[in-house]
Amino acid sequence: MSVIKDTYQLFINGEYTNSRDEKFFEVYNPATGEVIARAAKATKEDVDRTVEAARMAFESGKWPRTSHTKRARILNQIAAVMRERFNELVEAEVLDTGKTVAAAQGQINQAIEDFEFYAGTIATFGGRTNPMPGQFFNYTLKEPVGVCAQIIPWNYPLMMAAWKVAPALAAGCTVILKPASHTPITAYMLADICQEAGVPPGVVNVITGSGSEIGPYLTEHAGVDKVAFTGETETGKDIMAKASGTLKRVTLELGGKSPNIVFDDCDLEGAVVGSVYGIFYNTGQSCEARSRLFIHKNIYDEFVNKFLEKTKALKVGDPFNKETHVGALISKGHQEVVDGYVKLAVEEGGKVLYGGQIPEGEEFKEGYWYLPTVIGDVTNDMRIAQEEVFGPVVVLMKFSDEKEVVERANDSIFGLGSAIWTKDHGKAHRVAKALKAGIVMINNPISAFPGTPFGGYKQSGFGRELSIETLDLYTETKSVVSYI
Ligand code: NAD
Repeated sequence: MSVIKDTYQLFINGEYTNSRDEKFFEVYNPATGEVIARAAKATKEDVDRTVEAARMAFESGKWPRTSHTKRARILNQIAAVMRERFNELVEAEVLDTGKTVAAAQGQINQAIEDFEFYAGTIATFGGRTNPMPGQFFNYTLKEPVGVCAQIIPWNYPLMMAAWKVAPALAAGCTVILKPASHTPITAYMLADICQEAGVPPGVVNVITGSGSEIGPYLTEHAGVDKVAFTGETETGKDIMAKASGTLKRVTLELGGKSPNIVFDDCDLEGAVVGSVYGIFYNTGQSCEARSRLFIHKNIYDEFVNKFLEKTKALKVGDPFNKETHVGALISKGHQEVVDGYVKLAVEEGGKVLYGGQIPEGEEFKEGYWYLPTVIGDVTNDMRIAQEEVFGPVVVLMKFSDEKEVVERANDSIFGLGSAIWTKDHGKAHRVAKALKAGIVMINNPISAFPGTPFGGYKQSGFGRELSIETLDLYTETKSVVSYI
């Protein structure tokens, strides 16, 4: 029996309900193109009633006034139920995204740990007292921001939901979670789990529907206090403009074009493996995918040969096969975007060294596939080196010295991830300091663990997730000044 239901209704105020006009959209498996479920298509009226439910749940004070320790207990209970349902969550995520089982397992493990992390953190999170003159006395209170609209993308559905819902609940906020239309299923599964773990009705609500139709309405809504968004930079700009009407609190986790810098004094084998992982993990559909690979001229040929060898050895195919490294892309439209970028690279003078096409074979006739793709003869000013492809496409560039590579790495509108490979620790930390990016990985391709602040510089957004800093973004600071 499938872990996926035929129909997903909106989850408002602790109950499932059809959208007002009873419309649905189809949800399909990107690895096969088959329709696997349908989900409710919310209308503006549905947004209104969801905001009202979240507002009432907040104003009733039940959740915001629940003690820190009880909130922590409930967050831990959410994590415990997720652990019990681990296999179901993994299966649903793989069916909904076309990502590999290994990728889904890692991400869902992290989602679980995110709830545990905030359960631990909230117990010690609070205001402080400040030095004051004479008989004055000042302390601060950290109070929940209120009703939070949380709008997430399709690349890491459950993990992105956890990055948003866990800190909001920890801080005492109420939530309207809006997953991407491609991947609504695990958000609804999380809503069930929250309810079962003791989160009161109205505190976590989930709505689905067209981002371009209900997204702006939700973002402008006077009943929403904060918008936390992860997605494309252009959508982020629109959200920021719309949220300004009521001066909502906004956090934006946006796109990237992250540099990966390989110095000639690196551990070559480690750098090759880490660089392959850094771009092709999750079929390249990662905001911090290291898609610009800068290689020192002294090791360029040797590194590229090894990099190509490892890339060619990646197994693309059935996401449920444990041997598979690279799963499907999210949609036909996205496959066309990725292929369009490869064609553009060639027009710009780039040379496809591997990939650049849909893999051949019966198993790739259905679904949305693309070979891991390596492009040489690229300069940093080409569009292929400046725009986010959000697919398994890496461009190679040669460099000669540290100063020059830092300048070229920073020559981007984005500033999310970055990676450095060198055995020289002084150089590693010097370059880490000079890079204009929210995250720097040194001799390591993994960027996110519960507790590590995650977010961007420049047009990659602002605000940090996954960390103690995040709780500041879900709370207001009240300053109480008294004379004693
Ligand atoms: P997207 O911007 O198209 O959609 C993201 C979400 O916003 C979806 O739920 C969508 O329905 C909704 N939406 C669309 N238009 C909207 C509007 N006008 N107002 C409000 N909501 C709207 O992004 P996507 O294609 O789903 O995701 C891919 C993007 O996400 C990439 O650019 C990637 O880099 C980025 N991303 C960033 C991070 C990060 O932490 N920085 C993490 C993952 C993904």
